[in-house]
Amino acid sequence: MEPEQPDLFGGLFGEKKEVEIEIENQEKIYTPFLPGVEIGEAYPHVKTLSELEKEALSCQKCRLRSTCNKVVFGEGPEKSRIMLIGEGPGKDEDEQGRPFVGRAGQLLDRILNAAEIPREKAYISNVVKCRPPGNRLPNPDEVHACRGYLEAQIRIIKPAIIVCLGSMASQVIISPKARITQIRGNWFMRGGIMIMPTFHPAALLRNESYKRPTWEDFKMIRDQFKKII
Ligand code: SF4
Repeated sequence: MEPEQPDLFGGLFGEKKEVEIEIENQEKIYTPFLPGVEIGEAYPHVKTLSELEKEALSCQKCRLRSTCNKVVFGEGPEKSRIMLIGEGPGKDEDEQGRPFVGRAGQLLDRILNAAEIPREKAYISNVVKCRPPGNRLPNPDEVHACRGYLEAQIRIIKPAIIVCLGSMASQVIISPKARITQIRGNWFMRGGIMIMPTFHPAALLRNESYKRPTWEDFKMIRDQFKKII
């Protein structure tokens, strides 16, 4: 489900807009984190993950909801220091309503275990919250419709580290032009958050040669994680 892929979003994402608003007359200032996201699409009135999840569970903003079984919003503590983001739910995730529970998820669990990052301390989600039929890649308009949830999740959780699992997550979170083979294993910093792109676990299941570099990436993630917990 997570092959190398072309830049799917060239037409959708402009330069990051530095926009700041005051939310409900409080002193809190919010600047969108994801490239190209507008404040209005990121649920600025929502303060908690449970409120946001309610919005997502009743969402009909794109066609994926009409074919999926369950909305897979994401799971983990609201105050997680680390977020791991994939591209979209697969068959097992769609059935259970939980992210990364299929074969790729089990491999991710083993990687996290080896990196001494307890899964229960991480917040795990995807760029799109509903399964694309047949495990196809989400279309650009579906990503556009759904990315506000991810933006809001990042705003609410305020992680110290975000791990982008694969090309799509890297393109949505780091840059529309991101190529996972070129940027993986490098830290990016934005808004005080460290971002590490690495291969999606599903890619490791298809290509054994990705395992070594992925482990090298997770060793760096492990070292940073130890510093922040
Ligand atoms: S994929 Fe996202 S935008 Fe589309 S229906 Fe599901 S929650 Fe809504």
